[in-house]
Amino acid sequence: MKVIIIRYSEIHLKGNNRDYFENVLISNIKYVLKDFEYEFGRSNARYVLRNFDESRIEDIIDAVKNVFGVHSLSIAEEVPSDMEHISAAALKFAPHQGTFKVNTNRADKRFPIPSMSVSAEIGGDILDANPNLKVDLFAPDHVVNIDIRENGKTFVYGETIKAVNGMPVGTGGKGVVMLSGGIDSPVAAYMMAKRGMTLRAVHFHSFPYTSMQARQRVLDLAKIIKKYTLQMTVDVVGFTEIQTAIHEKCPEEYMITIMRRFMMRIAERIAKRHGAGAIITGESLGQVASQTLESITSTNSVATIPVFRPLIGFDKDEIIEISQKINTFETSILPYEDCCTIFLPKRPVTKPRLEHVLKVESVLDVDTLVDNAINSIETVVIE
Ligand code: ATP
Ligand code: MG
Repeated sequence: MKVIIIRYSEIHLKGNNRDYFENVLISNIKYVLKDFEYEFGRSNARYVLRNFDESRIEDIIDAVKNVFGVHSLSIAEEVPSDMEHISAAALKFAPHQGTFKVNTNRADKRFPIPSMSVSAEIGGDILDANPNLKVDLFAPDHVVNIDIRENGKTFVYGETIKAVNGMPVGTGGKGVVMLSGGIDSPVAAYMMAKRGMTLRAVHFHSFPYTSMQARQRVLDLAKIIKKYTLQMTVDVVGFTEIQTAIHEKCPEEYMITIMRRFMMRIAERIAKRHGAGAIITGESLGQVASQTLESITSTNSVATIPVFRPLIGFDKDEIIEISQKINTFETSILPYEDCCTIFLPKRPVTKPRLEHVLKVESVLDVDTLVDNAINSIETVVIE
């Protein structure tokens, strides 16, 4: 019978909490497989899927390999533990050219033949069937694995499919990611979900200065990252009133700094409302004027909960590489305006001094502006 073996990663390190981590991982795997029929089993430190529709095997693999906490998968044959069945299964996974070796693990010590002899014998059967092959024990092109389990059954499999690794979503606390339509913030969301964080998103838009397409793009990005975050809700916040007020009352070179402080305050209000303990941004040190240490200091100082910036040490190239891998890149580069581009100062301050920022900001009625923005929230649950 064809089965899928699922191996998990770091969680096995988590001593006493292992059950907790595993339960979350299992429920996440079951969540991404909710549209499939299968049987779920455990086999020491691995999970095994059985009795699924084999014509959908690729879709099942594709869903599970993106679940954080999953280390790798293999498609295997599960056969009774006798040499005849093992040999027949091994032939199915045998390559037709190049070099190979057979790797045997005998968990069932009652099985009469030692591992080395099993490997030698099955390797011989494979060579008989494929005379072009050569054995290479040290650097083979292909490995045929034989895993003789205690329950009288043996798994035989070939390649191992790498999965995303990381920690199961739901084990790393809750965070609010500030999701713009750009390249960086979806990658930041991915990085935190990879560490097990449950996320929701906040997006600031400045209708009518920013279009409905720009807003839709963010929802599209949210949908793509939902593949990793498992759930996704976006709070869309009207930001026009705040931007207009800053534009009218503050020196233009401080526009971005003050705007960012408002975004941070609002994100924190949303975080608290939903029991989230962190804010996530896509900032990368020095990337633009608002991402110098001085700018980050000015923005950060309004936050009372941790602000995570998982991309802080990444180059743009590295960020782009991840965005391509997670499939957000093409959507992120669509040419829509962002709310940060309206009223954009010609020469933004690159090294704002906090005392000065506080002074220029003091002409604004911060509390009322924040309250109004919170009241404007439109919550979109991504299906
Ligand atoms: P990105 O590629 O994520 O848009 P960026 O390089 O354009 O980032 P900035 O515009 O300086 O950089 O934004 C820095 C961070 O602030 C973003 O990564 C995002 O987390 C947050 N941010 C910016 N604009 C918005 C917005 N309109 N809504 C929500 N968050 C935003
Ligand atoms: Mg941007």
